[in-house]
Amino acid sequence: MKSLELLIKEKFNKIYSPSFCLKSRTSYKIGGDAKHFFEPVNRDQLVELIYFLQSLSLEYFVIGNGTNLLISDRGVDKIIISTKKLNCIEKKGNFIYVDGGVSIPKIASFAKRNNLSGFEGISGIPGSVGGGIFMNCGALGSSISDHLYSLDFLDSKGSLVSLKRNDVNFSYRETSLGEGTIISAVFDFDEGSEEEISKLMDQNRDWRLKNQPLNAPSCGSVFKKCKGESAGAYIDKAGLKGYRKGGAIISNIHANFFLNIDNCSFDDIDYLISLAKEKVYDRFGVELEEEVIRIGK
Ligand SMILES: Cc1cc2nc3c(=O)[nH]c(=O)nc-3n(C[C@H](O)[C@H](O)[C@H](O)COP(=O)(O)OP(=O)(O)OC[C@H]3O[C@@H](n4cnc5c(N)ncnc54)[C@H](O)[C@@H]3O)c2cc1C
Repeated sequence: MKSLELLIKEKFNKIYSPSFCLKSRTSYKIGGDAKHFFEPVNRDQLVELIYFLQSLSLEYFVIGNGTNLLISDRGVDKIIISTKKLNCIEKKGNFIYVDGGVSIPKIASFAKRNNLSGFEGISGIPGSVGGGIFMNCGALGSSISDHLYSLDFLDSKGSLVSLKRNDVNFSYRETSLGEGTIISAVFDFDEGSEEEISKLMDQNRDWRLKNQPLNAPSCGSVFKKCKGESAGAYIDKAGLKGYRKGGAIISNIHANFFLNIDNCSFDDIDYLISLAKEKVYDRFGVELEEEVIRIGK
């Protein structure tokens, strides 16, 4: 029987890298090597690759912009598929059609230039469409599902389905999609004026610059809100702002941001996460739930 490497080389050599360092694909700048790494350049290639891996019963993990990931320094055994090169974006009337890898800020500025309103609130979220929908990301009272019209979804059993917005349940940082890959999506925008949209986006950017520590690598919020309350407020009240472990620190500006300020390790962040959970539980009886997704050994 042919080895996996040989099979991969025959079919997907151009988009395949063995031992690929994942650090460069995450906003945290943390993470070891993926044994097998693929970066398809179009939707068909992504679908073909997933069918191929499924036919061999191989486990894989799809990453978008890597802005909500904490990857182990010890590396990842699972096959990693990056959607970073799936970049098509197209407008038809008030609808915008995008590949799963297109970044949210890119859609927001494309919509703005076309006088289409709807992404102003989430324009500063640095994720991709696929990661954004998977996480049902949101900010400033809006979420990515608000203007979602439909999406193409390849599930873990190999069915490629087109789903309408109402076929999926969206709640805070969750969806009913289950395991699978968001290949592409369509968003339904409102008509607006570039000037007004621009003004709102600038206000939102200024809000972020004032309230979030954007000058050091992070994954955004480490924890989800707890029963509607900000996790950062609990961490702050537990006295952990500014707490440092190795090259990682709990931000003084926003206590739910754990920053990589000096080439920190996975273990440094992991330590701070455990510490925050323990202290918040001891003081307030509240169990913090991680928003960041961990992968690796
Ligand atoms: C500075 C900063 C600010 C942030 N602010 C916000 C904010 O205001 N609100 C907010 O909600 N989040 C915020 N985030 C977190 C993050 O940007 C979002 O969670 C975003 O949706 C993650 O998208 P991604 O493409 O980076 O996903 P990744 O981090 O690559 O992956 C996250 C999850 O999505 C899955 N995934 C990725 N692509 C696909 C796909 N095509 N199909 C299926 N699953 C997929 C992955 O398997 C993984 O489980 C912030 C992050 C940073 C660094």
